[in-house]
Amino acid sequence: MIDYACRDGEGIHSGRELITLRLHKIMPPCTMVQGGFLVGILDFLFPKRCCGCGRIGGYFCEECRGTIRFVRPDEAVCPVCQRFAVDGKTHANCSSKDTLDGLTSFFHYDRVVRGAVKTLKYRFVSDLAKEFVSLVPASLLRRVPVGRRKARVIPIPLHSSRARARGFNQAAVLGSLVAGRLHLSVRTDILYRTKHTVPQADTRSRHARLQNMANVFALREGKPAIRNRSFIVFDDVVTTGATLNEAASALKRAGARWVWGVTMAH
Ligand SMILES: [Zn+2]
Ligand SMILES: [Zn+2]
Repeated sequence: MIDYACRDGEGIHSGRELITLRLHKIMPPCTMVQGGFLVGILDFLFPKRCCGCGRIGGYFCEECRGTIRFVRPDEAVCPVCQRFAVDGKTHANCSSKDTLDGLTSFFHYDRVVRGAVKTLKYRFVSDLAKEFVSLVPASLLRRVPVGRRKARVIPIPLHSSRARARGFNQAAVLGSLVAGRLHLSVRTDILYRTKHTVPQADTRSRHARLQNMANVFALREGKPAIRNRSFIVFDDVVTTGATLNEAASALKRAGARWVWGVTMAH
């Protein structure tokens, strides 16, 4: 068994991912589809490990899959105060003209979900991202109140230097998959990060966190159409809501009408 991560011009990939990328370059795509044996070889060389318990066989073993806790309707929270809110809609008295209109999170940030998020953060594993998003039940997706809005999904961007070092943005990978399931388009060309931020967990007080996040996002030059449009800002995990609220604030200052937050976990 070989289990290593390799770094090249395409960023950091697991051995499995790297071999797949290489094979895609030298073989026509139809070979990959028909060549089930290649997948077999990959599974042998780079076995998929469960994100929860490490067992070989798949990213989500039967047992760990059974422990996943979906966010129940009575656990939906307001993205500003983190207290219960009907349908995740921002409380009237928490809301200002720059805040998120609401928030939908799919999973609790427990063991197997946390394992999946962390694996995706440090190693780009596209088949893991697909399996992870496919675990979101349709009933939970329907809680994102897009209705007939043609909302655009904006994954929270990384700072460009971090994106360069890592080679991918896990929020963009997951966000595109979620957008696909919601039949919405993704825009990664609207928002960018103006500065590096200290990871949220390292900034203790609420005040420090807000300071850390102030004006962290800006809109790209040329102002793509934002006025009176609807958006979904997407991130893998929400803790304080500060990141998503800052992204919403940048969009709303530019005239966005409606901005909803969506995350895999909270
Ligand atoms: Zn497991
Ligand atoms: Zn509130």
